[in-house]
Amino acid sequence: MERYSKNLRPCLSQLKPYVAGKGYTEITRKYGIPQERIVKLGSNENPYGPSPKVIEALRSISSERYPETEVLMEGLARYTGYPEESIVVGTGMDGVMDTLTRIFLDRGDRVFIPTPTFSYYEILTVMSGGQPIFKERLDGYDVPTDVPRDVKMAFICSPNNPTGNQTSENDIIRVVESTDGIVFLDEAYVEFADKSLLGLVKEYDNLVVGRTTSKAFGLAGLRLGYAVAPEWIAEQYRRAAPPFFGLSCASVAAGVAAMKDLDFMHQSVSKILSERERLTRKLNARPSQGNFLYLETKAASGSVADSMMGKGVIIRDCRPFRGAGDHHIRVTVGTPEQNDSFLEAYEEICA
Ligand code: PMP
Repeated sequence: MERYSKNLRPCLSQLKPYVAGKGYTEITRKYGIPQERIVKLGSNENPYGPSPKVIEALRSISSERYPETEVLMEGLARYTGYPEESIVVGTGMDGVMDTLTRIFLDRGDRVFIPTPTFSYYEILTVMSGGQPIFKERLDGYDVPTDVPRDVKMAFICSPNNPTGNQTSENDIIRVVESTDGIVFLDEAYVEFADKSLLGLVKEYDNLVVGRTTSKAFGLAGLRLGYAVAPEWIAEQYRRAAPPFFGLSCASVAAGVAAMKDLDFMHQSVSKILSERERLTRKLNARPSQGNFLYLETKAASGSVADSMMGKGVIIRDCRPFRGAGDHHIRVTVGTPEQNDSFLEAYEEICA
């Protein structure tokens, strides 16, 4: 083995595998709970799924052909209000960030990551040979705007996963103006928030805003993300991106149909927002601008998450989020029935 393992890149030893929310299969196998009795609130998915028009479109894809992206790009341009030249697509927003880090990061490059936040930024940085510069978020989980010197990139998540707060326009402007690095503003959850800062891309040559169809559009399983970028960045992105941008006929057809049925998305978002309000009030939780709540637990988060799972309710233990400590969990806002099951189990366990 050693004869061959010496070929591995040394940076790998700095990483632990990304810890995703638990799935149905694992819980069914571990606790013998059938899938229909499991309440899955650990991955910030949308319980209402995609528009029926998406399901219809998926029926007529040509699986033997490679995908064509023109109509999808037109749809995203309409939705974002930006020209196609400014839009890039990828295999989820994860795929978009992967290509972006490949065009900007080299060995030793410094990358600013305010924590706690989505852990894939760290994985991408380290795998590019870069050096993450972590700074803890301030009170209220605001982003520290004194960007470390000489960073090549900064990853700001807003609304932030897992804490749920948004970064103010002033703070983003401060970050963008105080660095020569590229600022990636992750707006994966923005459809659930009061405000988007997408309009700032027009004003700054170093700001990219990432988006996804995984959350509000209910397309997590099809892996379609995009970003709005200054044209000079989008141009370089197209040089480095994988063939067909890592898309499939299914993700393209679904994206096209989803962009044609914004009403469905708005309705599902509004159901989730009214449940978010109910849960926030009931749990006296800190306000969230995403489709999830960040809750402090008295007992260790690992044991809370395990006990919840034993009752068939999957939530996220936030320990794998660097800087989140070991007393926080994250719960996705589900349907009213799912939220009731969560509340019942949570009250029993945390009483
Ligand atoms: N950014 C954040 C903050 C996320 O929470 C997620 C999904 N967990 C992503 C990006 C990745 O989204 P996608 O499914 O589009 O790859």
